[in-house]
Amino acid sequence: MHQQNNPAVKGTLYVVATPIGNLQDITLRALDILRSVDAIAAEDTRNTSHLLNHFAIGAKLMALHEHNEYQAAARLIEMLQSGKSLALVSDAGTPAVSDPGAHLVAKVREAGLPVVPVPGANAAVSAFSAAGITAPHFLFYGFLPHSSSGRKRELAALKNLPYTLVFYESPHRILASMADLREVLGGGRTVTIARELTKLFETIHTSMLEAALDWLEADQNRQKGEFVLLVSGAEIAETDGVGEEAQRMLQILLAEMPLKQAVKLAAEISGEKKNTLYELALQLKAPDHKPAGPGNDS
Ligand code: SAM
Repeated sequence: MHQQNNPAVKGTLYVVATPIGNLQDITLRALDILRSVDAIAAEDTRNTSHLLNHFAIGAKLMALHEHNEYQAAARLIEMLQSGKSLALVSDAGTPAVSDPGAHLVAKVREAGLPVVPVPGANAAVSAFSAAGITAPHFLFYGFLPHSSSGRKRELAALKNLPYTLVFYESPHRILASMADLREVLGGGRTVTIARELTKLFETIHTSMLEAALDWLEADQNRQKGEFVLLVSGAEIAETDGVGEEAQRMLQILLAEMPLKQAVKLAAEISGEKKNTLYELALQLKAPDHKPAGPGNDS
């Protein structure tokens, strides 16, 4: 139930999510907190003042961005210690999620002061919620490296994970990143391109990675704005009878040690048959591993 008055508590840092496009997505609680704190630490004070003006909130703004976060944190902690209440906001969405703020939050918590989340918009979760992905787990990665070599290295490390991969991407790199996703993960995975969420040109498009670059290139407007990319995870080999837990265990061990040792340990811990796990390990280690099954049981 919404409380009409929810004044900020003294000495508390509120981590406040703001809209990712549509200003109507601000929460009632966020408005209450932004109205009642003594000061707001913002990634970009000009940007945040537009938001505050829209809601007729007059608040003291202080800059906290990636270049001054360490110095600003010390000052903000002094303010909290003197009993002031503060809000932390970023340009869009949830602070500290691919945005500044984590250092401040860590330092405030270290100082034994209360940190309170005020949840709201987040691009990754919004995209996931509207993509219709039935796989239960996803891995939020955020921004891939800017260089193609860095991107490919990261993607190679993510390639065998059986979780939907969630990336943030900017219009400057969308084509290059899509080409690298296709090259490293293969064209057979599903990708959902969620663009300009909550805004006028919101687009949510799902295709195979194979076809995604052509789709983007077919219309320049599709390359504009802000993107969340959701790529289906590696398919876990369905080796008869091997439980999901044992498969996951094997996958983790394979990343850390030689195949035989990983199989032996996984068999000992899980109680699964060594031979079956060995077969599974070979599939997982194959450069382009595909699930075992009809027509694919080499
Ligand atoms: N803290 C934010 C959050 O909670 O989602 C993310 C900030 S990050 C600096 C900005 C990136 O988030 C953009 O480059 C884009 O990848 C994604 N993003 C933000 N707003 C978006 C939107 N309306 N539609 C799609 N992606 C968006």
